[in-house]
Amino acid sequence: MTSQQLIEKLISDKTLITPRIIKAFKAIDRKDFVLIQDKDRVYEDQPLSIGYGATISQPTTVAIMLEKLQPQPDNRVLEIGTGSGYMTALLAEIAGKRGKVFSIEYIPELKGLAEFNLRRYNFRNVGLFVGDGKAGLKEYAPFDRIISSASGDETPKSWKNQLKVGGRIVASVGENLVVLDKTSKKRFKQEEYRGFIFVPLR
Ligand code: SAH
Repeated sequence: MTSQQLIEKLISDKTLITPRIIKAFKAIDRKDFVLIQDKDRVYEDQPLSIGYGATISQPTTVAIMLEKLQPQPDNRVLEIGTGSGYMTALLAEIAGKRGKVFSIEYIPELKGLAEFNLRRYNFRNVGLFVGDGKAGLKEYAPFDRIISSASGDETPKSWKNQLKVGGRIVASVGENLVVLDKTSKKRFKQEEYRGFIFVPLR
């Protein structure tokens, strides 16, 4: 498959719907985020190992998560689990000049990999951090959107606290994808989608 064929498949099976997200998929090449030995499989719809027990998520999963998240230009976005930096790049492309993406990765080597991968895109709206994403990033809160591709047993309190009212969290909890809307300071509306497999949250 070519990049274009992969994107067309995601559009025709209605995984990708939002024009802004489709545009980002076209602008960010998955090839720039996979390991050299996987370059010939890069546009197949499957996860690929990036070392250290981590994977670059399956394109369908990335598309579903972004469609649920609905990031807007100008948004401050917190990402947990930078990994290859692929999702980071898509978020940065969507957030644009006036938005900002903060991404936390637990494994320093993977943060280094993401930094390397992202360099060719020259984003000025990305901050990469090493640390435990479960604590969020208090210094840079509040966020409009929070996304985690590492799966924990529950959604950490810190994420809920660091989210703006009207903001949204998309996170993997167990094998579910959870979408949380903060409707007031203390209230959340939750939806769950089953049947995903994610790298565990440490
Ligand atoms: N979005 C990434 C997916 C990487 S897989 C991509 O597109 O490539 C999930 C990542 O979460 C892994 O890199 C893993 O090391 C990281 N991770 C796991 N637990 C974490 C934690 N507590 N804090 C920050 N990152 C974590």
